[in-house]
Amino acid sequence: MEFVDRRSLVRLLTAMGLGICGIGQRHAIGMEERKPVSRRVIVIGAGLAGLAAARELQNQGIEVVVLEGRERIGGRLWTSNKWPDIPLDMGASWIHGLEGNPLTDLAKQAHAKLIETSYESNRIYDVTGKELSEAKETQLDRLRDQFQSAIEAAQEADEDTSLREVAERLQKKLGANEQVRQMLSFLVSSMLEQEYAGSATKLSAQWFDSAEEFDGEDGLFADGYEQIVKYLAKNLTIKTGQIVRRVVWDQAPIRISTATEEFTADQVVVTLPLGVLKAGGVKFSPSLPKPIVTAIAKLEMGVLNKCYLRFPKVFWPTDVDWLECITTKHGEWVEWVSFVRAANVPVLLGFNAADRGREIEDWTDEQIVASAMTTLRHLFGADIPEPIDYQLTRWASDPFSFGAYSYNPVGADPKFRRQLAKPVADKLYFAGEATDHEYFGTAHGAYLSGLRAAEQISDL
Ligand SMILES: Cc1cc2nc3c(=O)[nH]c(=O)nc-3n(C[C@H](O)[C@H](O)[C@H](O)COP(=O)(O)OP(=O)(O)OC[C@H]3O[C@@H](n4cnc5c(N)ncnc54)[C@H](O)[C@@H]3O)c2cc1C
Repeated sequence: MEFVDRRSLVRLLTAMGLGICGIGQRHAIGMEERKPVSRRVIVIGAGLAGLAAARELQNQGIEVVVLEGRERIGGRLWTSNKWPDIPLDMGASWIHGLEGNPLTDLAKQAHAKLIETSYESNRIYDVTGKELSEAKETQLDRLRDQFQSAIEAAQEADEDTSLREVAERLQKKLGANEQVRQMLSFLVSSMLEQEYAGSATKLSAQWFDSAEEFDGEDGLFADGYEQIVKYLAKNLTIKTGQIVRRVVWDQAPIRISTATEEFTADQVVVTLPLGVLKAGGVKFSPSLPKPIVTAIAKLEMGVLNKCYLRFPKVFWPTDVDWLECITTKHGEWVEWVSFVRAANVPVLLGFNAADRGREIEDWTDEQIVASAMTTLRHLFGADIPEPIDYQLTRWASDPFSFGAYSYNPVGADPKFRRQLAKPVADKLYFAGEATDHEYFGTAHGAYLSGLRAAEQISDL
């Protein structure tokens, strides 16, 4: 008998029991001819999920209005054009895994230019600010393998545990000295927290990586992710500045109240980010069913913040995309992306994730930039130039997302996302990255969840 591990088994049972449709099927939506149906659907949120759902429904002849709280569309796809020569993404930047990814096709349709970047194209610096020696690189690789094995063992255990606990157990087992401790802290930050946006103290060892991935390199939009947003939004009715406050859904039609107006609909697609649902600022009347309320409570919203620094000239290595550093303080400016290879501009992008990402949101812009510069001076010398400008984000405090993207903490497994994706009384359809158990936390997950909600409505 073939060995099937615990997680594969759960995935298998899920796929059998719930009749999950594959991507091929999802893409068939809208391709067959459907009779126009006289129905009105309100989509809450003009992010990727909302736009995808609205476009599919409109293609099927259903009347759709999108209500968006912000004065702009795109949600967590947000391209800044502050620097005219280089559009920069403040939310998602990459199509993760270009092969078979529905966003790769969409980018082609939108005539968007993609630049491939690779995590392999990187340089790592140690705590002294020097490039990692070959011996230390070998040591780091060995530690990475040991950590990976420790995580795999934790995934087979009966009880779930946090990734921090897995790291601490390994540290103890190795009798780790200060250098190994710093390397492990680097791995926790760069491999886990920067990727999944959750704190290692909360990330579930068993389920943090339960999402599927597409193969291939990552693709960066030369002119920003907004090209996808504009392409999808074409010909849709979108009302911006409409902050939804209340949805009364136990009657026909459903009533949706915003801060200034009231709308009615036969069905509502709710693409509010998990952070907004958790904050409870949008009231549902009657209250949402228990499985949905539980899912919202159990899943968590992570934080990833970006800080772009523009310099008068390049002073860092130009042959790699990623610069990484092992730091004494956990998570402090561990990952940087250089825009020299990709766009030939003297711009560096520094990240802060999870607890550290949350912590810096209370700082002033000047404090954040000064802290970034301390790290860069440590790596590249005291005489590097000051940045001529910066752009940064504070996703955790953003009232329209309250975080960057969702993750699985200890106590949450994929069933909660499937609960979120189930229609409520043929009236409410939740979509958005957090509702996609296969690809949560990503732009393609958001897109596919929008198509799924549209299919659920058109199947009525
Ligand atoms: C910093 C950062 C980096 C990322 N990097 C990547 C990446 O490189 N690759 C990748 O694949 N993914 C990445 N992601 C994740 C990706 O951006 C998201 O998963 C995706 O954009 C979510 O889309 P969505 O439609 O589910 O939600 P959103 O885009 O958040 O859309 C929800 C919409 O609802 C609106 N809304 C909120 N409250 C209300 C209200 N009360 N009334 C009306 N409207 C409301 C919001 O304004 C928003 O427009 C990143 C995210 C962040 C923040």
